[in-house]
Amino acid sequence: MSQAGTTASSSGGDLPARADVVVVGAGITGASVAHHLARRGVSVVVIEQSPRSGAGATGRSGGMVRAFDPDTAIAELALPSLAAYRDAGRWASGQAPLHAVGAVTAADRAQESAFREAAGQINGALRTSAHVVAEREEAAGVRLAGGVALVEPEAGWVAPAEVTADWLVQARADGAVVRHGVRVLEVEERGGRPAVLTDAGVISAGAVVAAVGPWAADPVRGLRPASPVRSRSIQVSIVERRPPAPPHATFVDLRTGLYAKPVGTDRTLIGMPHLVWDAPFDAQPDPAHAQATVSALTAHFPWLTTAAHLSTVRATDAYGPPGGGGPAAGLLEGTGVPHVWSVRGWNGGGVKTAPEAGRRIAEACVADAFCEAA
Ligand SMILES: Cc1cc2nc3c(=O)[nH]c(=O)nc-3n(C[C@H](O)[C@H](O)[C@H](O)COP(=O)(O)OP(=O)(O)OC[C@H]3O[C@@H](n4cnc5c(N)ncnc54)[C@H](O)[C@@H]3O)c2cc1C
Repeated sequence: MSQAGTTASSSGGDLPARADVVVVGAGITGASVAHHLARRGVSVVVIEQSPRSGAGATGRSGGMVRAFDPDTAIAELALPSLAAYRDAGRWASGQAPLHAVGAVTAADRAQESAFREAAGQINGALRTSAHVVAEREEAAGVRLAGGVALVEPEAGWVAPAEVTADWLVQARADGAVVRHGVRVLEVEERGGRPAVLTDAGVISAGAVVAAVGPWAADPVRGLRPASPVRSRSIQVSIVERRPPAPPHATFVDLRTGLYAKPVGTDRTLIGMPHLVWDAPFDAQPDPAHAQATVSALTAHFPWLTTAAHLSTVRATDAYGPPGGGGPAAGLLEGTGVPHVWSVRGWNGGGVKTAPEAGRRIAEACVADAFCEAA
């Protein structure tokens, strides 16, 4: 693979004139892809429109991570991703980013045997102590409200912006060029390869990986994935958790979609599906939904009835059908422009899947040579 050139482009200062791969978007997905590509010797340029990383869904995310997911395609990514988040050796900081507060997944009693099977698989792969709790009112500080629970004591949450920053540090150390405050305006074909038109100049690329998150629903020309992607609202609130409220694990209830995670020692993040489609990324918080979220979660955290509400954050993520047919086992989707690929599969779970998704995309890029130098 070639090294990223450093020839100045028309108005771009030190924006490279060419690269094997241009990654558009420095959220957690783009950062993972860039890190894994650069580690394999691919010349990478990352273009991010915001002056800082984590400006999109990544910066507002709760960052809950666990190995289990009812969607087997996601679980297949989530399990090795949890292993990566637990492994201090993979991080520039020298510290594993995982806060292992535990993870509780609640479901209808009919899921008990599926949970037991999943616990066995998780423990076999990760040497953990995942187990099923049935016939009990509570698990790891969470009232189960009649269901069964899969408890993963070694799972928990990560800070998505910190993970993103760490991967970008590693990518830079491996030769990648990361540019913030540069917006991709369009990607077009020139001589069979992509030309990335930005507001700071043009980059000739062997391939382009668009990791633009919710912006994939309404992307710039040349980055539109073949399958439809829609943005959907995600809203979370932070509430105060004072004694005697107990500490608790992260929590997802598959029956309702309700979720929660501890934030430090005295706060909790709570959320409930907010089924508002095609919402702008910066839509205002919905107070009625915030109130309904507290009410619904009181069944699991009775102390919420008197907890002080501190803040509400609203954002969106990109939702679409599972990938199929594209490279990297369907994680990439064609865009109609040769060698320009859109990353698939955020659907509200991009943090729990990012380590393995980025690794697979980079592996496929190198093995299949679909991102060779321009
Ligand atoms: C409130 C909330 C809570 C969440 N909680 C969880 C959770 O607990 N666990 C979990 O696994 N997932 C969670 N998610 C989902 C997860 O955060 C997302 O799936 C993930 O962050 C998506 O990352 P991304 O890199 O694909 O997108 P983004 O983080 O949105 O990054 C895309 C980047 O592309 C840039 N960009 C877009 N267009 C251009 C352009 N034309 N030129 C240059 N740059 C461009 C944007 O500025 C942005 O920085 C949550 C999401 C939200 C919003």
